[in-house]
Amino acid sequence: MSSNLNGKVAFINGGSRGIGAASARRLAREGATVAIGYASSASAAEALVEEIKASGGTAIAVKADATDATALTQAIDGVAAQFGRLDILLNSAGILLMGSVDQFSLADFDQTVAVNVRAVFVASKAAAAHMKDGGRIINIGSTNAQRMPFAGGAAYAMSKAALTGLVKGLARDLGARGITVNNVSPGPIDTDMNPANGDFAAALHGLMAIPRHGHADEIAAMVAYLAGPEAGFITGADLLIDGGFAA
Ligand code: NAP
Repeated sequence: MSSNLNGKVAFINGGSRGIGAASARRLAREGATVAIGYASSASAAEALVEEIKASGGTAIAVKADATDATALTQAIDGVAAQFGRLDILLNSAGILLMGSVDQFSLADFDQTVAVNVRAVFVASKAAAAHMKDGGRIINIGSTNAQRMPFAGGAAYAMSKAALTGLVKGLARDLGARGITVNNVSPGPIDTDMNPANGDFAAALHGLMAIPRHGHADEIAAMVAYLAGPEAGFITGADLLIDGGFAA
């Protein structure tokens, strides 16, 4: 257990499962108090809180559907009020809806933008209002912002590409206040969204320099680094951790 993040408070938008949950465990292990935002997985979020507490950490679960700007903002304001500060925002909530342009509905397009892009802006705006010098905003992007090698992923790839522009602009907005803003952009990671034993796994591995799914912990490690004191000069970046998917 390191103490890199002792005294820090983190809000994780989409912390109940997958990469967000692994990052919650890791940030807590490094000493941060973590607030785990979730939309529908209440029992997974509560179980994670209990797990973190049992390991000596501090955590709470907060219901906040990322598509509801008011609820998300209130959740972040509430965490900052409860703990007296907010230092780290991780935006990990995301959805992957697939379909080629002739089939893909406008409702699915709008939902993709609402969760993967709009909520990141909403949460960043809310969190930045509470952050002091040393604040950290970290988004989970995707290697698909750079490479979408299959049909059917246009909206998802667009949503993740949008985040590469968003972090550049937000980095400029918040840099003078000592707040950094970055994307961590994974390749295939073994989660509910993209299981290592799923139908697409072999096809994905065929495109990679390191032909395997990554572990959520391998993404959480970069999240923790960016959240920590050594990463204060990294901002506006899109950091690929993709086993060479886009190489
Ligand atoms: P996951 O296991 O499916 O988990 C998704 C998380 O997002 C859950 O905690 C879920 O919470 C939350 N979420 C979804 N919709 C939400 C909403 N409306 N409001 C609040 N939370 C919401 O997926 P994952 O693989 O960990 O994905 C995490 C991030 O990594 C996503 O942004 C994804 O695009 C990105 N990513 C994943 C991969 C991969 O291969 N797995 C690769 C590149 C990028 P609830 O269950 O409570 O709704």
